[in-house]
Amino acid sequence: MTSDPATAAALATATTLAGCWLWHRRLANRHARESAAAQERFQQQLRHERDEHARLLDSLGDVLLQVDDHAHILAANAAAREWFGQRELVGRPAREVLLDDRLVAAVAHCLSRGTPVRERIVTAQHLWAQNEHDTHGTRAWLVDAARVPAPDGSPSVTRVVLRDVTAEHQTEQIRRDFVANASHELRTPLAIINGYLENLLDDAGVEDPAMTRHFLGIMHKHAERISRIVEDMLVISRLESGEAGTLNVEPFGFRSCALDVIERLEPVIREHGAELRLVTPTGDPRIHGDRFYWTQVMFNLIENSLKQNPRPGLRVEVGCTDEPGCQRIWVNDNGIGIPAADLPHIFRRFYRVQKHHSQREIKGTGLGLSIVKRAVEAHGGTIDVHSIPGRETQFTITLPR
Ligand code: ADP
Repeated sequence: MTSDPATAAALATATTLAGCWLWHRRLANRHARESAAAQERFQQQLRHERDEHARLLDSLGDVLLQVDDHAHILAANAAAREWFGQRELVGRPAREVLLDDRLVAAVAHCLSRGTPVRERIVTAQHLWAQNEHDTHGTRAWLVDAARVPAPDGSPSVTRVVLRDVTAEHQTEQIRRDFVANASHELRTPLAIINGYLENLLDDAGVEDPAMTRHFLGIMHKHAERISRIVEDMLVISRLESGEAGTLNVEPFGFRSCALDVIERLEPVIREHGAELRLVTPTGDPRIHGDRFYWTQVMFNLIENSLKQNPRPGLRVEVGCTDEPGCQRIWVNDNGIGIPAADLPHIFRRFYRVQKHHSQREIKGTGLGLSIVKRAVEAHGGTIDVHSIPGRETQFTITLPR
């Protein structure tokens, strides 16, 4: 051991320096480790945010595409992959993916002018069919394409959102048809009334009381037809509004409801010489529903079975039975039946089966079965029809308890 102070001092300095060096190294190592960990955390955060972002876009029901300035797809969400058949979309030209020329043109318009495009495009359903039964009709899209603001120097991106608005489009179409059909149905009796009024205003008509009465009788009949169409339209509109309180639900006996209707139709039954049977094999079932609408349902079905079949030997059976979990109500007749081609349409508003030439007079408003179907559905039930032309027609309602 040396006691030389210089050496001792040098040793002390060396020890201090070594300590410092070690300390620095440890510090540097710790910094390096911390920085690597921070880097890893940052990468993880980035991955997490990217995944979150993708999950968010995938959770959108709308199709979302991001497109570059050359109309190539940069990104697509799950809805896009689903609608465009799960094909690889990224990197492909939008024109190859979008299936319909007008969709392609809408996106091209936004890309070339840089201005947003928002329009409704109706395409053929077969382009989007997901199975071979799904090829009829049209599919409506709301296209919303706009350039996304990009930071300085970054290439610009255009986002294209396609929203499936087929259901709204169909509802609007049904409304348009309804207005057109209703106007048409009302115009005919109004034109007839106007014609007779013009005749009456002419002196010759007014001078002959018998003729005047005859004209007034015809006008009265057509005015009644107008008011029946208007009443039926109001009933349909109330049922379709789906507003709470539309139905006044209270239990009632099926037999008394059916007997009320049969009593009201007694003159028609007699006129047709028809035989009408009311059968309730499980006693008198209690229906939980709005008696007003059930009276309309029974009236329209029984009246149809009579007025559509004015031929001798007509038998009509009206029945109701309690079954496990449901009630079944039926109106069957052995009349002319309904052709198979018309069956899918008879519940549509204003739909009438083309009549034989001998049956030229229009007997109903064409709204009877639409009211029946809507009233049954408003009570949570379903209605089915089975018919063999020339032999029978059976309407069966199933009402869950
Ligand atoms: P309408 O007011 O003309 O009776 P509906 O909606 O009640 O209209 O019925 C639609 C069409 O369905 C009728 O025009 C008729 O051709 C057919 N139809 C309905 N019920 C029967 C039935 N029991 N027998 C034969 N045809 C029927």
